[in-house]
Amino acid sequence: MVVVDANVIIHGRADQRFSQAFTVPEVLEEMKSSEASMKADLLDLQVQRPDSEIFEQVQSKSEEIGAATSETDEKLLALALTRKDSLVTDDKDLQNLGLHLEAEVEGFLEDRIEKKLQWISVCSNCGREVSTPPCPRCGSQQVRRKLD
Ligand SMILES: [Zn+2]
Repeated sequence: MVVVDANVIIHGRADQRFSQAFTVPEVLEEMKSSEASMKADLLDLQVQRPDSEIFEQVQSKSEEIGAATSETDEKLLALALTRKDSLVTDDKDLQNLGLHLEAEVEGFLEDRIEKKLQWISVCSNCGREVSTPPCPRCGSQQVRRKLD
């Protein structure tokens, strides 16, 4: 079994690797559009909460490396670690955090990052990881390099 993020749920049937998956309750809560929840119905999705101690470990590692991951992302990773399942996500920050915690991480539509990132570019304004300005979240043109 695998643990999947919202993006994988939305595009789940495009991929034949799995038809059943786990996710955390927060992902379903965040999937507001009816189209997205219909896709969630297509995938055989089981909902589970991560072990709280493991979640705390994920959160402190995230702070330690300055990961731009949301609490929901961190819960997904914690669930993968709790279940000893692979986490399937294209979120590079989340993949990177997973690698730092020695989790099994798989890319979904894109290949997974090869190794732990040492440096990342982040938006100077909101902190989101940005490959090229402007920041997709807030539109800022300012990016800075950050030690991973
Ligand atoms: Zn920004």
